[in-house]
Amino acid sequence: MKIPELYRQRKEAGRSVFSLEVFPPKRKSGINSIYEAVEKLKVTEPDFISVTYGAGGNIADNSTCDIAAAIKKQYGIETVAHLTCINSTREDVKVMIRRFAEAEIENVMALRGDIVPGEEIKREFAHANELAIEVQRQCHDDLEILGACYPEGHYEAKSVEEDIQNLKYKIGAGVKVLITQLFFDNVKFYGFLSRLRDDGISVPVSAGIMPIVKSSQLEKTVQLSGASLPHSFTEMIARYEHDKEGLYAAGIDYAVRQCRDLIEHGADGVHIYTMNDPDVAIKIWEGIRDLL
Ligand code: FAD
Repeated sequence: MKIPELYRQRKEAGRSVFSLEVFPPKRKSGINSIYEAVEKLKVTEPDFISVTYGAGGNIADNSTCDIAAAIKKQYGIETVAHLTCINSTREDVKVMIRRFAEAEIENVMALRGDIVPGEEIKREFAHANELAIEVQRQCHDDLEILGACYPEGHYEAKSVEEDIQNLKYKIGAGVKVLITQLFFDNVKFYGFLSRLRDDGISVPVSAGIMPIVKSSQLEKTVQLSGASLPHSFTEMIARYEHDKEGLYAAGIDYAVRQCRDLIEHGADGVHIYTMNDPDVAIKIWEGIRDLL
C-alpha cells in the first residue's frame, strides 16, 4: 500500500499510524537476526516498517532493498526503503530506485545522509529535495516519497525557521509524509507541528520515538542527537544511570508515556526507532495498544 493513503485511512478512522524502523545488520552474516526481529515484531501489527540505508556507519548496499522486500513479501507488512544521496552519483541512485521498483517496493524515504568528515561526497545531489525530484522523474507515482524533519531544527540550519523554509523544498519535490528526528520533549514536537501548519505544510507527520534503555545510548544517542532533555528525562537518567534493569524499565516507561501523550493529542503517527531490539518495541506497543 502507498503510505500517504495509509495515513489518510487512519486519519479517517481517527487513528494514529504505528510504525517501526529497523536497520540492516552491520555484517552480512547477521542478516538472519533482522528476520528474527521482524518475525517477533509481527505481533505488534505495525502499519509499516521502514529500513534505513547506510545509517550509523553501515555499508550502503542492497541490504535495504532486500530486507524491505522481505518485510513486504514474506511477512506481509508494508514497508518503506530509505535512500540517501550525498555519497551517491546520479547513476547509483538511478540503479537503486530501479531495484526498489523491481522489488515492488512502493515507498521510499528520500534523505540526504549525514556529511561525515573524511568521507567522500559525490556532489551530484546536495539535498534530499533533489533526490525526491530524481525519484519522481524515474518513477512518477509508482514510488511514494517520505522525508525527514527536525522538531528542534537540523544541526546545520541556523534556526528552526530556516529549516522549515528548507523543508518546503522537499514538500514541493513530492514528499507526502514526514517522520521526525528523535526527541524527548513532546512540547517541542507540538510547537514544531503548529509552526509547520502555520507555514502551510499540511502533510502527515509521524513522531520519531527512541527508547533509551541502556547507558551506552546516553553518550551515543542522547548527546549526539542534540535533543533537549526535559526534567523528567534527566531525572530518570540520574536515578537509573548505574542500574541496568532500572534504566531498561524506566526507558520503556518514558517512551510509552511519550507515545500515549502524542496519540492522545491526535498525532498522525508514532514511529519507533527499534534499534533492532524487538523486545523493547513490543513492550512499548503493549503500553499503547489500547490507543491504537
Ligand atoms: P536535507 O533535507 O537535505 O537537509 C539537510 C540540511 O540542509 C538542513 O539543515 C536543511 O535545512 C538544509 N536544506 C534542505 N534542503 C535545502 C535546500 N534545497 N537548499 C538549502 N538548504 C537546504 N541517514 C542515513 O544515512 N540513512 C538513513 O536511513 C537515515 N534515516 C533517517 C530517518 C529519519 C526519520 C531521520 C530524521 C533521519 C535519518 N537519517 C538517515 C539522517 C539524515 O540523513 C541526516 O539527518 C542528514 O543530516 C539530513 O538528511 P535530510 O534528508 O533531512 O537532508
